[in-house]
Amino acid sequence: MRRRPFRPPVFLLAHLGIGLGLAWLLAWKSPARFDYRLVLFGAILPDLIDKPLGYALGLETRIWSHTFVFLFVLLAVSFAPRLWMLRFVGFGVATHLLVDRIWEMPWVVLYPAYGWSFHPASLDAERWIETLLHDPLVQAGEVVGALILIVFAWRKGLGSWTALRAFLRYGTLPPGIRQINLKQG
Ligand SMILES: [Zn+2]
Repeated sequence: MRRRPFRPPVFLLAHLGIGLGLAWLLAWKSPARFDYRLVLFGAILPDLIDKPLGYALGLETRIWSHTFVFLFVLLAVSFAPRLWMLRFVGFGVATHLLVDRIWEMPWVVLYPAYGWSFHPASLDAERWIETLLHDPLVQAGEVVGALILIVFAWRKGLGSWTALRAFLRYGTLPPGIRQINLKQG
């Protein structure tokens, strides 16, 4: 039996790595504590929502969660007390749109300026894989994303289980561990 075609997870690296890299860049001089977990989550959130939804509805796989409306609603909600952490998710979503080169799909990102309905699915799975294998920009994005993830893990000292556990628990490194890293780095 032929396996059902599925989208290889290669795009993930570009989204996760570049999203994380931009947050890291922003956090460099910022006194605020960045929750990198939420940034990483936001960096893949539009695809987590739109891919299954698009497949189910027979639409493009970039729909509502790839719009400015989605991003602005998320950011607006983050102004509610106790929900300010959503800003990190919003930041991740913004980087997702960037990596997706969403400006090439103005009817999506500027929804509903071009009408209330989305296009029906146009790319079949094989063409998706074709794009992934042959689009140099996509490949470059994956490589850059992977490199950023590796450098981040290295600089933040995520090589040890203790540090990795702390990262998963707090979204950033506890000051103690970070200071040791700074001394080393
Ligand atoms: Zn996407």
